This record gives sequence, structure tokens and C-alpha cells, in this order.
Amino acid sequence: MPDDLAPLTEEVAAWAAAGLRLPLWLRDDDATAPSPELDRLIAAAEGWRMPLHLAVIPAGAGMALADRIATAPGVRVLVHGWAHADHEGPQAKKSEFGQARPPEVALADARRGHERLRTLFGARVLPVFVPPWNRIAPAVAQGLPGLGYAALSATPGAAPEVPGLLRIDAELDPVDWHGARSALPVTMLALRAARALAARRHAGVAQPLCILTHHLVHDAALWARIGQLVRSLRPVATPFDLAGVFATETMS
Ligand SMILES: [Zn+2]
Repeated sequence: MPDDLAPLTEEVAAWAAAGLRLPLWLRDDDATAPSPELDRLIAAAEGWRMPLHLAVIPAGAGMALADRIATAPGVRVLVHGWAHADHEGPQAKKSEFGQARPPEVALADARRGHERLRTLFGARVLPVFVPPWNRIAPAVAQGLPGLGYAALSATPGAAPEVPGLLRIDAELDPVDWHGARSALPVTMLALRAARALAARRHAGVAQPLCILTHHLVHDAALWARIGQLVRSLRPVATPFDLAGVFATETMS
């Protein structure tokens, strides 16, 4: 039987042989309320002894989610735009913070998104902006530090570099968004993960690697795939906690 995970297993072995450690972190998008799926994800992260970075949609979030997270000390909250609403129109790719609106209007949403989450979740909120659909116009991204945001998390290459704004992207997305919205084939994901690790090993940088999840769309195959990825990376992984990055910083 062919080993679907072979490229990743070999790359992990190379890391282990070289004594390298990979900071590994979890970002999950689109939470607004408690659900059995969210419970399952929180339990999984606790089982892996990893913090869980939840990108919460501010406009839809309420006290029920705040109450749930109050009992889950490993959860950190990131700001997932404002309402996850597309403003670009039917011809363009979906974006809440794209070119369609004046930057100051979009930035007002980015500001109230943070404010609302701070009201609900207090110090659990980190100054990290996660634009819905991982898209953000350069003029909007440039305004984020002025609102007190310290980091932007999108997908690699999908957002502009901005001075004063740490980029902490989500690289490994196991969902087949263009197909059945189930898990991508394990061979494809193993190859992507292996390439992400090899690039770091060759460049000599231990940039954190993120597994991106969307608990509300997970079927059995996706749950299994995410577990498979975490277990494969585990021998060389160190759980990465964004709260540690911002421990000495406060939002304006
Ligand atoms: Zn989203």
C-alpha cells in the first residue's frame, strides 16, 4: 500500500535529524456562537495541548460564545473583519475589506470589530486582524496599525506587506473549497506541508506554520485529515501561541 504521507514523513525526519523545531499553530475561522462542532475543535486542541486561535465575526458574536470561551483557557480571539459581508459585487472576488469601499469606511468597520470583541471577550482578544476571505486592499491594510492592530493574518501572498504590521499567515488549508468542501486528498496536503517545511529548512527560518480550520464545515473526512496533519507534524512541532507575541503590547 502506498504511503500517502511519505513526503511529509520524510521531511519531518529531516527536521528531527537536524534537531529543528517547528512552531505550529491553529487558526479557526467564522465562529459566532457555541456549537457541538466548536466543542469538538476545542477538545481536539486541548488534546493536542495547542492553543486555539479563533477568528470571530464581531457583528454576529454574542454572549453565548463569550460564556463558552470563558471555560476554554486555551482559546485566543482574533478579529475576523466585521460582519463577513461581501462588498465587491457579483463580478469580483468576495471581500469585506477590498477596493469597493473607501478605506476610511472599511477601517471604521475594522475599528468597531475590535471594540465589539473587546467588550465580549476582554483580554482574550489579540490585536490580530483576519480579513474575511483572506483579502484586504493595500489602503485598508495600511490603516490597521493606526487602529492598534499589531498583526495581519491572511494567506500567503494575498495581502500587502505593511510596515509595523506583523504578518502571520495561514498556510495549510485542508478544505477543498472549489470542490465538495470536504477534505483535500491526503497526498496533496502532505506534499504542501512537506514543501512548507522544506522551504523553512532550506532558508534556515523557523517561521510558524498554521493549520487553518473552519469548524462549521467539517465533515468526518476533514476532522480525520486535520488530526492526521497534526500527528504527522507533532514529532518536530512546538505549539505556537500568538498571545505570547503580544504579551507586552496593548491595543490603543
Ligand atoms: Zn471567514
